[in-house]
Formats: sequence, C-alpha cells, structure tokens
Amino acid sequence: MKIGGLQKVSLIDFPGKIACVVFAQGCNFRCQFCHNQILVVPQKFEKLTEEEEVFDFLGGRVSKIDAVVVSGGEPTLHNDLWKFLEKIKAMGFMVKLDTNGTSPTVLEDLYGKHLLDYVAMDIKHRFEKYGEIVCAEADIEKIKLSVALVKSGSVDYEFRTTVVPKFHGDDDIKAIAEQLSGAKRFIIQEFVPGHAMDGSLSNANSIFAVENREILNGVANFCRTHVDEFAWRVAN
Ligand code: SF4
Repeated sequence: MKIGGLQKVSLIDFPGKIACVVFAQGCNFRCQFCHNQILVVPQKFEKLTEEEEVFDFLGGRVSKIDAVVVSGGEPTLHNDLWKFLEKIKAMGFMVKLDTNGTSPTVLEDLYGKHLLDYVAMDIKHRFEKYGEIVCAEADIEKIKLSVALVKSGSVDYEFRTTVVPKFHGDDDIKAIAEQLSGAKRFIIQEFVPGHAMDGSLSNANSIFAVENREILNGVANFCRTHVDEFAWRVAN
C-alpha cells in the first residue's frame, strides 16, 4: 500500500481506543474543504512511508495501543489494502477504516474477510448535491451501496459529514439524515478553514457558532427522528 504518513498516537480517531493512524496516499475526490492535500494532490505528494516501517513501529506497540486507523486519502483505492489489514489483524490490533464510500466491492470484501472493527464513512452532501463539493465524478449508486453495506454490516460504524457553510445549510443536513434513515450513528463535524483545498472557504455563519445554537438544536432534533444517534464535533 502507498502510505503517505503515520501518526503514532491518537486518542480521538477510534472511539474509546488508543490508536495510531496510517494515511493512504491518493484520493479519487477533490473535496473543496479537504485539508489533506499532501495525500490527495499528486504534485504535493511527499516521500512514502514504507510498510516495513509501520510494522516495525506496531511490533513495539503491542499492548500499548489498541487499534490502527487506516485513513487517507482514500484507502480503498489500494488493491493490497486487505493484505495490509490482514497483517495488522494478525498482530492483534483492531482496525478502523475511514472511507469516502466509493468502492463498495472493496468494502464488501473487507467485511467478508472480517478485517474491520469500525468503519467511518464520509457523507459529503445530500446525494443530489455530491458533485458540488467533491469536484470529481461521483457514482452515487456506489455511494448508496456502501451506505447500505455499512448499515447492514455487523461492525460498529458512523456516518459523518463535515459541514461547510458555503455548501451545507440546515436543510441539507436534515436531508442527509433522511437519506441515512435507520442508521446507527450520524455525526456532523465543524469545518476548519485553514489549509482547505479551496482557500476562499470560510466558517462564517457556521451552524456551530454560538448564535446559531437554536438552529443546531433544531437540526439535531430532526436528525434524531431518522438515526439512532446524532452528535456534532466542534473543532478544537
Ligand atoms: S475524500 Fe477525504 S481525502 Fe479525499 S479529497 Fe475528500 S476529504 Fe480529502
């Protein structure tokens, strides 16, 4: 797998677990809010981290960390992802996968091989508006298939949407919750403007602003009629 970076410890990426984070290099989307350009834009790619380096690190962390989060970029673009995860599982670590959901067949294969312990799937927008934000061809039928897979899988999961004021109004968030109807967990997270792909994006009039708390509470009440758990994550 092409690995663009390794974060040696994280207390926030896998709920309730101490984890490290492996970042896959390359992505098939160009989300305007993305702050991981060094993992997405080929001209900005940095030196790869060797798999061997990751496994040497993990070898020294057995019993010190619980899990490995494989994020990106988009990990499912890598044909050898399953082999990488298989080795991680063989070392006794749990695995969380972060994905944009564009590869349902890869996802299905990973479920079938029992290589996942938690899945976080990004929902970029309501399905009708995906193209506005990902700036790439988005096969919505594949995204829908991945949503169905994640919902029906035996593995714990969350759907999450980064809320960018320029693109997402409160009606959009409600529409996303409707499209995820019956899901276990839907989380919205605050957009952080610094380092975004589109440098002109701002957080002005964010739904997370204190003065908009009433609107946010209304959104939360609505979403909770469609999903079991709804929460928001405010940027630090
Ligand atoms: S899918 Fe994720 S990594 Fe890829 S461009 Fe969008 S935010 Fe960035």
